[in-house]
Amino acid sequence: SKVMEFENEKILEYLPGSREREELKKALKDLKEEILEIPLIIGGREIRTENTGQCIMPHDNKKVIAKYHMADEAEVKMAVNAALEAKKDWERLPWEHRAAIFMRAAELASGSWRAKLNAATMLCQSKTFIQAEIDSACELTDFLRYNVRCLYELYGEQPMSLKGSWNRTEYRPLEGFVFAVSPFNFTAIGCNLAAAPAISGNVVLWKPASNAVYSAYMVFKLLQEAGLPDGVINFIPGKGGNVGDAVLADENLAGIHFTGSTEVFRDMWKTVGNRLDLYRTFPRLVGETGGKNYIFAHSSADVEALTASIIRGAFEYQGQKCSAASRGYIPKSLWPELKGRLIEELGTIKAGNVEDFNNFMGAVIDRHSFNAIKGYIDYARDSVEAEIISGGNCDDSVGYFIEPTVIVVKDPHFKTMEEEIFGPVVTLYIYEDKAFEDTLELCGKTSQYGLTGAIFGRDRYALVKMEEELMHTAGNFYINDKPTGAVVGQQPFGGSRASGTNDKAGSKLNMLRWICPRVIKENF
Ligand code: GLU
Repeated sequence: SKVMEFENEKILEYLPGSREREELKKALKDLKEEILEIPLIIGGREIRTENTGQCIMPHDNKKVIAKYHMADEAEVKMAVNAALEAKKDWERLPWEHRAAIFMRAAELASGSWRAKLNAATMLCQSKTFIQAEIDSACELTDFLRYNVRCLYELYGEQPMSLKGSWNRTEYRPLEGFVFAVSPFNFTAIGCNLAAAPAISGNVVLWKPASNAVYSAYMVFKLLQEAGLPDGVINFIPGKGGNVGDAVLADENLAGIHFTGSTEVFRDMWKTVGNRLDLYRTFPRLVGETGGKNYIFAHSSADVEALTASIIRGAFEYQGQKCSAASRGYIPKSLWPELKGRLIEELGTIKAGNVEDFNNFMGAVIDRHSFNAIKGYIDYARDSVEAEIISGGNCDDSVGYFIEPTVIVVKDPHFKTMEEEIFGPVVTLYIYEDKAFEDTLELCGKTSQYGLTGAIFGRDRYALVKMEEELMHTAGNFYINDKPTGAVVGQQPFGGSRASGTNDKAGSKLNMLRWICPRVIKENF
């Protein structure tokens, strides 16, 4: 079958004086002028509840940008009914017409909505302009378009038929609704978690992370403007426990599309497992969860490239990407040069308010996160096993700011080598060059996770050795590059082990999970 053209959305540069920069500055100013009131949206209706929460700016934490309403059991019931009602027409719509809505949303996101989506992501999640651009402008747009392309290919796949009869596959959506649960760290991921199942005819209940309701709401409004019919996606922010319990108690739950913590996903899986008698189908569980991603350097590595990748991999977006580099294995022979470069370059890094276009980093997402990250840094500071060689200061007087922090440890099993921190902290273990193979084995065994990893080296034999030994440690594996920044259509993203079901966001593998094929044979 003929395949649709796909090209990644181009990353704009926002040079001083450029049109895109002026538009973004204006959008930032406009958004900050009002405190948005965010309702639930169920069956296209705005619903206001007694319980409300606030969205504040992480880098200016006295500044409230929105008040949002929270769903509870009653609203979840309402949302299930609205979704199932909408499903009747939605799943019968020719798929091209469903796809067209999301293609149009991509057009808007990359065009007239670009500045607004980026500004919302900057203010709500404290992303720098470039981190917002690669998220809410590019990745979001890419997901929407690429998913359609994936379906276009999938639907073309048909069984063979012999003379006298005809076989065909009908790509039905799931029976019931899909529960999309999105994290704070990527606006694009929220959009994809809700949109990917919807394109193939599913209906969705979308619970965005409480600390990213603001930008998730913008995405919802974008989808509405693109022509999404009422009830296809229902927007129900609220407390994870309340909303989750109510949703998982419904017999029509047909799937979960989740990105967030390993712990929450495990709990949901257990709940679903215990209730299998209740559900009408076996719910599809798709989750992308935690990581403890590594950078492993061989003595043949290029130290300049290694330095840049540690800094970008560990500290871009304050280390709050699931894919962020958070532990490193460095051969002793490279350490003096690497250490010097890291300290020097980190000394020039600017952090602060993301509305200043010169800053490389903003604040971490909220107080809870700030305290948890600070706890790890304090733990390292107080230990004789660890040394903080750069950064380490935390200051929440204006915003939740944490310096890019490099910890060096003697014990490769030190707490910060093993636990996910989700902040701007990287821990390095310096190994004897001759212990290369043992250290590789150690790296592979250290973590329960398997999300991303990066190896550095020029020696081809060493690269092969690393690639083999680290086989099951990462769903996204990088050679001589940082472990973050997967691009839709180029590096389908996801991991295994405790990092999730590895159904590769933005790929056919993912789109397949929202489809329940019926094979039809007709005799002539
Ligand atoms: N896909 C993103 C990356 O490679 C990470 C996604 C996440 O944080 O969940 O950087």
